[in-house]
Amino acid sequence: MGKLNNKVALITGGNSGIGLATAELFAGEGAKVAITGRDENTLKDAANQIGNETLAIKADVLNLASLDDAFREVESKIGKIDVLIVNAGIFKGAPLTDFSEALFDEIVDINFKGTFFTVQKALPYLNDGASIVITGSAAAEVGVENASVYSASKAAVRALARNFSADLLSRKIRVNVLSPGHVETPIHGRLGLSPEQVKGLREELASGVPIKRVGTAEEMAKGYLFLASDESSFMLGTEIVVDGGWSQL
Ligand code: NAD
Repeated sequence: MGKLNNKVALITGGNSGIGLATAELFAGEGAKVAITGRDENTLKDAANQIGNETLAIKADVLNLASLDDAFREVESKIGKIDVLIVNAGIFKGAPLTDFSEALFDEIVDINFKGTFFTVQKALPYLNDGASIVITGSAAAEVGVENASVYSASKAAVRALARNFSADLLSRKIRVNVLSPGHVETPIHGRLGLSPEQVKGLREELASGVPIKRVGTAEEMAKGYLFLASDESSFMLGTEIVVDGGWSQL
Protein backbone atom coordinates (compact mmCIF):
# COMPACT_ATOMS: atom_id res chain seq x y z
CA MET A 1 0.00 0.00 0.00
CA GLY A 2 1.41 3.40 -1.06
CA LYS A 3 1.89 6.33 1.31
CA LEU A 4 -0.50 8.45 -0.79
CA ASN A 5 -3.05 5.82 -1.81
CA ASN A 6 -6.10 7.45 -3.43
CA LYS A 7 -4.95 10.96 -2.46
CA VAL A 8 -5.32 13.68 -5.07
CA ALA A 9 -2.00 15.52 -5.46
CA LEU A 10 -1.43 18.65 -7.56
CA ILE A 11 2.14 19.68 -8.30
CA THR A 12 2.74 23.09 -9.88
CA GLY A 13 5.73 23.09 -12.21
CA GLY A 14 5.33 19.31 -12.37
CA ASN A 15 6.62 19.11 -15.93
CA SER A 16 10.31 19.61 -15.08
CA GLY A 17 13.07 19.00 -12.55
CA ILE A 18 12.10 18.70 -8.90
CA GLY A 19 8.35 18.87 -9.60
CA LEU A 20 8.53 16.08 -12.18
CA ALA A 21 10.54 13.77 -9.89
CA THR A 22 8.04 14.46 -7.10
CA ALA A 23 5.07 13.72 -9.38
CA GLU A 24 6.66 10.40 -10.39
CA LEU A 25 7.29 9.40 -6.77
CA PHE A 26 3.76 10.38 -5.73
CA ALA A 27 2.20 8.38 -8.59
CA GLY A 28 4.27 5.37 -7.47
CA GLU A 29 2.88 5.85 -3.95
CA GLY A 30 -0.70 5.56 -5.22
CA ALA A 31 -1.66 9.23 -5.65
CA LYS A 32 -3.93 10.52 -8.40
CA VAL A 33 -1.58 13.15 -9.82
CA ALA A 34 -2.20 16.44 -11.59
CA ILE A 35 0.61 18.68 -12.82
CA THR A 36 0.67 22.24 -14.09
CA GLY A 37 3.27 24.13 -16.08
CA ARG A 38 3.60 26.67 -18.86
CA ASP A 39 4.66 24.54 -21.81
CA GLU A 40 2.11 22.25 -23.48
CA ASN A 41 4.71 19.94 -25.06
CA THR A 42 6.70 19.29 -21.90
CA LEU A 43 3.44 18.89 -19.98
CA LYS A 44 2.37 16.14 -22.36
CA ASP A 45 5.77 14.40 -22.21
CA ALA A 46 5.85 14.64 -18.43
CA ALA A 47 2.33 13.18 -18.10
CA ASN A 48 3.39 10.20 -20.24
CA GLN A 49 6.53 9.73 -18.15
CA ILE A 50 4.60 9.87 -14.85
CA GLY A 51 1.86 7.55 -16.17
CA ASN A 52 -1.08 6.52 -13.97
CA GLU A 53 -3.46 8.74 -16.00
CA THR A 54 -1.73 11.93 -14.89
CA LEU A 55 -3.76 15.05 -15.54
CA ALA A 56 -1.62 17.77 -17.17
CA ILE A 57 -2.95 21.33 -17.22
CA LYS A 58 -1.44 24.45 -18.74
CA ALA A 59 -1.48 27.25 -16.16
CA ASP A 60 0.81 30.22 -15.61
CA VAL A 61 1.13 31.53 -12.05
CA LEU A 62 1.36 35.03 -13.54
CA ASN A 63 -2.20 34.58 -14.83
CA LEU A 64 -4.45 34.22 -11.78
CA ALA A 65 -7.50 33.26 -13.84
CA SER A 66 -5.58 30.27 -15.23
CA LEU A 67 -5.04 29.09 -11.64
CA ASP A 68 -8.79 29.19 -10.96
CA ASP A 69 -9.41 27.23 -14.15
CA ALA A 70 -6.73 24.64 -13.28
CA PHE A 71 -8.09 23.97 -9.80
CA ARG A 72 -11.64 23.69 -11.12
CA GLU A 73 -10.48 21.17 -13.74
CA VAL A 74 -8.65 19.06 -11.14
CA GLU A 75 -11.73 18.93 -8.91
CA SER A 76 -14.06 18.01 -11.75
CA LYS A 77 -11.78 15.34 -13.24
CA ILE A 78 -10.04 13.67 -10.27
CA GLY A 79 -11.57 15.18 -7.12
CA LYS A 80 -10.75 17.61 -4.31
CA ILE A 81 -7.07 18.09 -3.56
CA ASP A 82 -5.37 16.38 -0.58
CA VAL A 83 -1.79 17.41 -1.40
CA LEU A 84 -0.74 20.69 -3.02
CA ILE A 85 2.93 21.08 -3.95
CA VAL A 86 3.60 24.75 -4.74
CA ASN A 87 6.79 24.32 -6.69
CA ALA A 88 6.66 26.52 -9.82
CA GLY A 89 9.51 29.00 -9.66
CA ILE A 90 12.47 30.52 -11.43
CA PHE A 91 16.06 31.33 -10.60
CA LYS A 92 17.58 34.48 -12.05
CA GLY A 93 20.19 36.87 -10.75
CA ALA A 94 22.19 39.96 -11.67
CA PRO A 95 24.80 42.21 -10.07
CA LEU A 96 23.20 44.54 -7.54
CA THR A 97 24.22 47.67 -9.44
CA ASP A 98 22.59 46.44 -12.68
CA PHE A 99 19.48 44.81 -11.22
CA SER A 100 16.53 46.08 -13.29
CA GLU A 101 13.02 46.72 -12.05
CA ALA A 102 11.74 44.30 -14.72
CA LEU A 103 13.93 41.48 -13.39
CA PHE A 104 12.93 42.29 -9.80
CA ASP A 105 9.24 42.11 -10.75
CA GLU A 106 9.63 38.88 -12.73
CA ILE A 107 11.27 37.01 -9.85
CA VAL A 108 8.93 38.37 -7.17
CA ASP A 109 5.81 37.90 -9.30
CA ILE A 110 6.52 34.23 -10.04
CA ASN A 111 8.19 33.07 -6.82
CA PHE A 112 6.37 35.14 -4.17
CA LYS A 113 3.12 36.51 -5.59
CA GLY A 114 2.63 33.29 -7.57
CA THR A 115 2.99 31.19 -4.42
CA PHE A 116 0.60 33.39 -2.43
CA PHE A 117 -2.16 33.24 -5.03
CA THR A 118 -1.64 29.57 -5.86
CA VAL A 119 -2.50 28.76 -2.24
CA GLN A 120 -5.30 31.32 -1.96
CA LYS A 121 -6.96 30.20 -5.19
CA ALA A 122 -6.62 26.50 -4.23
CA LEU A 123 -8.50 26.88 -0.94
CA PRO A 124 -12.03 26.12 -2.22
CA TYR A 125 -10.70 23.01 -3.94
CA LEU A 126 -8.73 21.55 -0.98
CA ASN A 127 -10.04 18.90 1.37
CA ASP A 128 -9.90 19.74 5.08
CA GLY A 129 -6.79 18.06 6.51
CA ALA A 130 -4.86 18.66 3.26
CA SER A 131 -1.09 19.08 3.20
CA ILE A 132 0.46 22.02 1.36
CA VAL A 133 4.21 22.01 0.69
CA ILE A 134 5.84 25.16 -0.65
CA THR A 135 9.24 25.07 -2.39
CA GLY A 136 11.64 27.42 -0.65
CA SER A 137 15.41 27.46 -1.02
CA ALA A 138 18.41 27.06 1.23
CA ALA A 139 19.53 30.28 -0.49
CA ALA A 140 17.15 32.12 1.84
CA GLU A 141 19.56 31.31 4.71
CA VAL A 142 22.87 32.40 3.17
CA GLY A 143 24.28 35.41 1.35
CA VAL A 144 24.95 34.69 -2.32
CA GLU A 145 26.39 37.15 -4.83
CA ASN A 146 23.84 38.38 -7.44
CA ALA A 147 20.97 36.47 -5.84
CA SER A 148 19.45 38.98 -3.40
CA VAL A 149 15.99 39.12 -4.96
CA TYR A 150 15.75 35.36 -5.54
CA SER A 151 16.82 34.66 -1.94
CA ALA A 152 14.40 37.25 -0.59
CA SER A 153 11.54 35.75 -2.66
CA LYS A 154 12.27 32.38 -1.05
CA ALA A 155 12.54 33.90 2.45
CA ALA A 156 9.11 35.41 1.74
CA VAL A 157 7.52 32.05 0.94
CA ARG A 158 9.11 30.59 4.09
CA ALA A 159 7.20 33.25 6.04
CA LEU A 160 4.00 32.49 4.12
CA ALA A 161 4.08 28.88 5.33
CA ARG A 162 4.01 29.97 8.99
CA ASN A 163 1.21 32.44 8.44
CA PHE A 164 -0.86 30.22 6.14
CA SER A 165 -0.65 27.46 8.76
CA ALA A 166 -2.12 29.90 11.28
CA ASP A 167 -4.82 30.98 8.81
CA LEU A 168 -5.78 27.38 8.03
CA LEU A 169 -5.75 25.82 11.51
CA SER A 170 -9.54 25.49 11.65
CA ARG A 171 -9.46 23.37 8.48
CA LYS A 172 -6.55 21.25 9.80
CA ILE A 173 -4.58 22.12 6.65
CA ARG A 174 -0.82 21.90 7.29
CA VAL A 175 1.58 24.15 5.37
CA ASN A 176 5.31 23.37 5.35
CA VAL A 177 8.33 24.24 3.23
CA LEU A 178 10.85 22.03 1.45
CA SER A 179 14.03 24.03 0.86
CA PRO A 180 16.43 22.49 -1.66
CA GLY A 181 20.08 23.42 -1.89
CA HIS A 182 21.82 23.14 -5.26
CA VAL A 183 20.03 20.48 -7.32
CA GLU A 184 20.77 19.25 -10.83
CA THR A 185 17.67 20.21 -12.85
CA PRO A 186 16.92 22.10 -16.08
CA ILE A 187 16.87 25.34 -14.00
CA HIS A 188 20.57 25.95 -14.73
CA GLY A 189 20.03 25.47 -18.48
CA ARG A 190 17.56 28.37 -18.45
CA LEU A 191 20.24 30.94 -17.58
CA GLY A 192 21.32 31.49 -21.19
CA LEU A 193 24.62 29.62 -20.71
CA SER A 194 26.27 27.11 -23.06
CA PRO A 195 26.21 23.40 -22.03
CA GLU A 196 29.90 23.70 -21.03
CA GLN A 197 29.15 26.76 -18.90
CA VAL A 198 26.23 24.94 -17.23
CA LYS A 199 28.58 22.04 -16.44
CA GLY A 200 31.15 24.48 -15.04
CA LEU A 201 28.50 26.22 -12.94
CA ARG A 202 27.35 22.90 -11.45
CA GLU A 203 30.95 21.95 -10.61
CA GLU A 204 31.47 25.31 -8.96
CA LEU A 205 28.22 24.95 -6.99
CA ALA A 206 29.17 21.38 -5.95
CA SER A 207 32.55 22.54 -4.65
CA GLY A 208 30.77 24.83 -2.17
CA VAL A 209 28.58 22.02 -0.77
CA PRO A 210 30.09 20.24 2.26
CA ILE A 211 29.43 16.80 0.74
CA LYS A 212 30.95 18.00 -2.55
CA ARG A 213 28.13 17.34 -4.94
CA VAL A 214 24.82 18.86 -5.99
CA GLY A 215 21.61 17.05 -5.07
CA THR A 216 19.25 15.12 -7.30
CA ALA A 217 15.59 15.87 -7.92
CA GLU A 218 14.81 12.39 -6.56
CA GLU A 219 16.43 13.30 -3.23
CA MET A 220 14.12 16.33 -3.02
CA ALA A 221 11.06 14.23 -3.92
CA LYS A 222 11.58 12.06 -0.82
CA GLY A 223 11.30 15.17 1.36
CA TYR A 224 8.08 16.25 -0.36
CA LEU A 225 6.64 12.77 0.16
CA PHE A 226 7.34 12.95 3.89
CA LEU A 227 5.74 16.40 4.22
CA ALA A 228 2.80 15.46 1.97
CA SER A 229 1.94 12.24 3.80
CA ASP A 230 0.56 11.54 7.27
CA GLU A 231 4.12 10.62 8.37
CA SER A 232 4.64 14.34 9.09
CA SER A 233 1.26 14.77 10.83
CA PHE A 234 2.75 16.75 13.77
CA MET A 235 4.58 19.27 11.53
CA LEU A 236 3.18 22.59 10.41
CA GLY A 237 4.58 26.00 9.61
CA THR A 238 8.07 24.55 9.45
CA GLU A 239 10.77 23.63 6.96
CA ILE A 240 12.92 20.75 5.81
CA VAL A 241 16.23 21.82 4.28
CA VAL A 242 17.73 19.29 1.84
CA ASP A 243 21.04 20.83 0.83
CA GLY A 244 24.01 18.55 1.60
CA GLY A 245 24.83 20.82 4.53
CA TRP A 246 25.36 23.91 2.33
CA SER A 247 23.44 26.36 4.54
CA GLN A 248 24.41 24.76 7.86
CA LEU A 249 28.12 23.86 7.99
P1 NAD B 1 12.91 23.75 -13.39
O1 NAD B 1 13.23 24.96 -14.19
O2 NAD B 1 13.29 22.41 -13.89
O3 NAD B 1 11.37 23.72 -13.03
C1 NAD B 1 10.65 24.89 -12.72
C2 NAD B 1 9.18 24.63 -12.97
O4 NAD B 1 8.45 25.82 -12.66
C3 NAD B 1 8.90 24.31 -14.44
O5 NAD B 1 8.00 23.23 -14.46
C4 NAD B 1 8.22 25.56 -14.97
O6 NAD B 1 7.23 25.27 -15.94
C5 NAD B 1 7.56 26.10 -13.72
N1 NAD B 1 7.31 27.53 -13.83
C6 NAD B 1 8.22 28.54 -13.87
N2 NAD B 1 7.58 29.71 -14.02
C7 NAD B 1 6.25 29.44 -14.05
C8 NAD B 1 5.09 30.21 -14.20
N3 NAD B 1 5.13 31.55 -14.37
N4 NAD B 1 3.90 29.58 -14.18
C9 NAD B 1 3.81 28.25 -14.04
N5 NAD B 1 4.88 27.46 -13.92
C10 NAD B 1 6.08 28.05 -13.94
O7 NAD B 1 13.59 24.02 -11.98
P2 NAD B 1 13.65 23.18 -10.61
O8 NAD B 1 15.06 23.23 -10.20
O9 NAD B 1 12.94 21.91 -10.68
O10 NAD B 1 12.86 24.21 -9.65
C11 NAD B 1 11.70 23.89 -8.95
C12 NAD B 1 11.61 24.78 -7.73
O11 NAD B 1 12.73 24.50 -6.88
C13 NAD B 1 11.65 26.29 -8.01
O12 NAD B 1 10.73 26.94 -7.15
C14 NAD B 1 13.07 26.66 -7.64
O13 NAD B 1 13.22 28.01 -7.25
C15 NAD B 1 13.33 25.71 -6.49
N6 NAD B 1 14.74 25.48 -6.19
C16 NAD B 1 15.57 24.89 -7.10
C17 NAD B 1 16.91 24.69 -6.78
C18 NAD B 1 17.89 24.05 -7.75
O14 NAD B 1 19.11 24.11 -7.52
N7 NAD B 1 17.44 23.42 -8.81
C19 NAD B 1 17.39 25.13 -5.54
C20 NAD B 1 16.53 25.71 -4.64
C21 NAD B 1 15.19 25.90 -4.97
